[in-house]
Amino acid sequence: MGRVTQNRTEYKRLNMKINLPQNFTATVTGHGKTNSYLHHFKIIKAPTCPCGNNDQNIDILLLDCQLLNKERKTLKQSIQKTNDWPTNNRELKRKHIKEFMKFTNKIPLDETNVKQNSCELLES
Ligand SMILES: [Zn+2]
Repeated sequence: MGRVTQNRTEYKRLNMKINLPQNFTATVTGHGKTNSYLHHFKIIKAPTCPCGNNDQNIDILLLDCQLLNKERKTLKQSIQKTNDWPTNNRELKRKHIKEFMKFTNKIPLDETNVKQNSCELLES
């Protein structure tokens, strides 16, 4: 089994463990299918976020990514009613689960991400 095949197998295994809603679990565990994560497993070529500003990881998505400005604003407003922004994972899960799930559902972490950016060269 080659390294790439092994990575793909590992990726599929991890993928199966993730239950719905996928983005939410991904965000909370920090093992989401962000571009940084996929790049680490050599599933895609670049760790860059589609916004072009940073490597795409959970922190960037939550706090910085321009593509999520609108969703972040909504989440932030809701959280700031009772907590400081940014708040921690625990508070997000305990008090703001509904808004947080709405936010995570907007994160572009799906299969199209993988397809558009996949490492075809590594397969041959
Ligand atoms: Zn971004």
